[in-house]
Amino acid sequence: MKKLIAGNWKLNGSFEMAGTLISELKSAVSAGEGGPDILFCPPFPYLPYVRNLVDGARMAVGAQDCSAEQGGAFTGEVAPSMIADCGAAYVIVGHSERRQYHAETDERIAAKAAAAHQAGLIAIICVGETEAERDAGREEAVVGDQLSRAIPDGATPENTVLAYEPVWAIGTGKTASAEDVRKMHAFIRAKLQERVADSASLRILYGGSVKSANAAELMAVENVDGALVGGASLKSGEFAGIISAAG
Ligand code: PGA
Repeated sequence: MKKLIAGNWKLNGSFEMAGTLISELKSAVSAGEGGPDILFCPPFPYLPYVRNLVDGARMAVGAQDCSAEQGGAFTGEVAPSMIADCGAAYVIVGHSERRQYHAETDERIAAKAAAAHQAGLIAIICVGETEAERDAGREEAVVGDQLSRAIPDGATPENTVLAYEPVWAIGTGKTASAEDVRKMHAFIRAKLQERVADSASLRILYGGSVKSANAAELMAVENVDGALVGGASLKSGEFAGIISAAG
């Protein structure tokens, strides 16, 4: 299946940075067919600007979060329909930083993903265990539980992408071993059958300290259909390296 390389800018960026990064990337990555799909997830204010900069054939734009509501008295929220109106095609939901700093539950994440689907967006639903949970041998139990609760009814391979991001590997420079990733992605693939029809064609991304130096090894693992990249997506050379490692 065609891989997806998604860059999550988190709380970083400016108009100047977006302009430079995307023009450098467009010259580093061949515009032709083949190679992975490429996604940029900047903070909300830059969505329309980044949408206008990208090469629409191969590159898309996504948000990092959305409201579970489509409108109304919800100060500070951004509706999925507004994200779609900005020309974005994707939205990340349930990132571990949202779970940790904003107390997002799996039920809330499922509601956000369902709202994203309603607006025609593809939801990238994030799951992953903490270091303590892995040390206790509970990683499959934790991720299995997240999968059964955070995926809304009506999820399909067309409207949903899964991202496995072990919390201990995010922004730490520690990456899961290829064997740990293989095992977990196989587990997720099997578990998806309970929630999604045609689950074999739903993309499962790996995230957590992916960089150009480790991307080829990770992207070669069975059931790894792309990457969700944080820090390395802010550097055009690194991001381009990951994109070429994905074929
Ligand atoms: P990282 O972040 O690549 O900086 O580890 C990944 C993510 O949080 O999506």
